[in-house]
Amino acid sequence: MSNVPVAVVTGSNKGIGLAIVRALCKQFPGDVYLTSRDPQRGQAAVAQLQQEGLKPLFHQLDIDDLQSIRALRDFLKDKYGGINVLVNNAGIAFKVNDTAPFAVQAEVTLKTNFFGTRNVCTELLPLMKPYGEVVNVSSMVSASALGRCSQQLQQKFRSDTITEEELVQLMTKFVEDAKKNIHEKEGWPNTAYGVSKIGVTVLSRIQARLLNEQRKGDHILLNACCPGWVRTDMAGPKATKSPEEGAETPVYLALLPSSADAPHGQYVSEKTVQPW
Ligand code: NAP
Repeated sequence: MSNVPVAVVTGSNKGIGLAIVRALCKQFPGDVYLTSRDPQRGQAAVAQLQQEGLKPLFHQLDIDDLQSIRALRDFLKDKYGGINVLVNNAGIAFKVNDTAPFAVQAEVTLKTNFFGTRNVCTELLPLMKPYGEVVNVSSMVSASALGRCSQQLQQKFRSDTITEEELVQLMTKFVEDAKKNIHEKEGWPNTAYGVSKIGVTVLSRIQARLLNEQRKGDHILLNACCPGWVRTDMAGPKATKSPEEGAETPVYLALLPSSADAPHGQYVSEKTVQPW
């Protein structure tokens, strides 16, 4: 088994994820895994970074596929005995002009952004080594969507005692309400992406609390963040930041020094803890 530290970035064949891998290759003292659901796209991205003189490693990962997640888990467990840095970056968003019915957008978006990210956490968080860092890439849209939820939902999503099961029930209810076209009546904002990212931010707060309770003394820091508005296939060419600039806050959170005990359980933007 290798004693080399290891970092893993989900959805990193392009966009912000690729920029995070590029930065980690330069700054992280260990092996850095570029992962992609499509091995060809992943290998092409690895080749691109190799051209730049960097040496990322590759492993397949589709966060919608539990078998794929477990294959990566077993590989990392066998080869490294754990994980030092995990960046949950993979995500999807329908374009504003997409004509897919809202119910479909809700189901598909929540499936990857919330349930897929949660499945990765369920399988990989137990592998996190002491002094490790977990970064969940959420969005500022999570905060604005929270503000457009009913008071009752806002109270639940801001609660310091909400459980992961309760959050899963709420995310499931959103998809069901969207299918019945009663989501707005039930207090949800009219944004599938926004709700999925509320899920990611609240999940991060819950997981940080669980780490405090179950792994006190291991100094694992877990945060949600927003990369900013970044020029990628998702956000388009008009966005204000380059992918490298978008990677700055996630990379900052991934490389917090071992002496740091904060931020932890926070939603961070521009390297600054934001109110939730
Ligand atoms: P992007 O260019 O569309 O890249 C998304 C990445 O996620 C791609 O590598 C994509 O792979 C991957 N992915 C999607 N579904 C996946 C799955 N089921 N399993 C594994 N990988 C999957 O988007 P981006 O702008 O870089 O976004 C990265 C993260 O930042 C996302 O979580 C996004 O919500 C968040 N974010 C972005 C912005 C922005 O302005 N760009 C703002 C706030 C938050 P494929 O190539 O196979 O599709």
